[in-house]
Amino acid sequence: MHDYIAISTLNDFVFCPYSIYLHNVYMGADEDLYHAIPQTQGKASHSQIDEKKYSSRKDDIVGISVYCNELGVAGKIDIYKQKERLLIERKYKLDKIYLGQIYQLWAQYFCLVEMGYNVNRLAFYAISTNITFPIELPTDENKKELINFIESFKNFNPETDIETNINKCRHCIYCSLCDKIEIENVY
Ligand code: SF4
Repeated sequence: MHDYIAISTLNDFVFCPYSIYLHNVYMGADEDLYHAIPQTQGKASHSQIDEKKYSSRKDDIVGISVYCNELGVAGKIDIYKQKERLLIERKYKLDKIYLGQIYQLWAQYFCLVEMGYNVNRLAFYAISTNITFPIELPTDENKKELINFIESFKNFNPETDIETNINKCRHCIYCSLCDKIEIENVY
């Protein structure tokens, strides 16, 4: 059977590979243990998508499960606007777009394409500011980069040394549970 990587974890892996290990360890735990305010807002912004309430337009496809055998990833998309052939990922707040978030959107794109959808445009949408951020479609080089990244994800060994960085760790939602560092997070 194919081992799929969850698209939602790609951004966390870029942030810190060890956070994926912690996420898996604490997955069954009460989310209040480690969910900080930004994550709670992010979850709330996705709840409408999860309940498929976001768009009443018939040609919008909302919150469907997607997968890509070629990349070995699976997850959910936010909104695919069939008329515009536009894939949108909503975030509660977007001061900056991180590489991991781009990887997530690329992964969703490759899933939709493999599933037979025509996608011509990609974008992030920030709910807090009502601003849309168009993103270029991935090139062949981008695809190779994403495949290599997913490969390093699959081969990650949590026993290896993890590079800690106080500024980063302070903003990590797993900070209070992490055995690699002894500080409190900022939330
Ligand atoms: S606290 Fe630091 S080392 Fe631990 S998971 Fe978070 S970012 Fe990684």
